[in-house]
Amino acid sequence: MQYKTHLAVTYAAALPMLVSSDSLTIGNLVVLGVGALFPDIDHPGSFIGKRLPIVSDSMRKLFGHRGIVHSLIGAVFFTAVVRFLLMTFDLPIDWATWFLMGFFAHLVEDSFSKHGIAWLQPIYNKNIQFGLKQVYYTTGGGSELAIFFVASAILIYQIVQIDLFAQLTFPFLEIQNVVNQIKNTYFI
Ligand SMILES: [Zn+2]
Repeated sequence: MQYKTHLAVTYAAALPMLVSSDSLTIGNLVVLGVGALFPDIDHPGSFIGKRLPIVSDSMRKLFGHRGIVHSLIGAVFFTAVVRFLLMTFDLPIDWATWFLMGFFAHLVEDSFSKHGIAWLQPIYNKNIQFGLKQVYYTTGGGSELAIFFVASAILIYQIVQIDLFAQLTFPFLEIQNVVNQIKNTYFI
């Protein structure tokens, strides 16, 4: 699945959860998107891989594309890393939850690709395909394009319904925290 489809589907699915749990903030929206793109870091040709070529190349060499990064253990491990970073920089721990949500959504979305993913590796290395190999999309194909358009339509409808942009406030305090932390750690 391409990055824009991952984003459209993840945001369309998660927006009602963000609203109902009173968690609609720019910070949560950003980490949700990062989580939704993160697993493809194991693929240097992906959107995130192209932006972090050295990390991505080593990830691919270490784990392979759709290797352990695309699994439950990968989700737990990288969420723990994010949690650690958030604690280090005094940022909202909530962000780890929404990162995990995005990550998890990515795995579910990839599970509807033709070959699915191996959720339980390294314990059980077989791929699991959620559509019982009958319902699937082809990456970059017409079926994915259709998913993208439907998800985008749902997303736009929701954005208008909840008047999303009127509800968001810019996370000045969080950004200030990070800047201060970096200043204190490296410049004093
Ligand atoms: Zn993926």
